[in-house]
Amino acid sequence: MGILDDVVINAKSAAEAVGKKAGQIVDASKLRINAAELNAEISKRYEALGQYVFESCREKLAEDAEAVGKMAEIDELKAQHAAVRKELNDKQNKVVCPNCGKQSPNSVQYCSNCGTKLGE
Ligand SMILES: [Zn+2]
Repeated sequence: MGILDDVVINAKSAAEAVGKKAGQIVDASKLRINAAELNAEISKRYEALGQYVFESCREKLAEDAEAVGKMAEIDELKAQHAAVRKELNDKQNKVVCPNCGKQSPNSVQYCSNCGTKLGE
């Protein structure tokens, strides 16, 4: 084996080492993305579970002081959200049906979707 062969072999193994390292970096990135995606999914499921419990077990939760505080915060945010939505719809000259949620122009008295009387 000549010197050139040694150089080629060393270059080859160096390239393999770099490739292996790059592969490890890619693997780590993929795993990091995978972990982040799973974490986001877990958060979504917690949110869905929390919403389900909030909607269906309010009376049971009312026995727990911490839950009562958190439910009050959510109720307050819901009220703020409704107020902002109303303001936004007013600015857009729209009214939202309280029954089905369909947007209609302010000039309309009844919801075209479900017939509920609009505005007050
Ligand atoms: Zn409606």
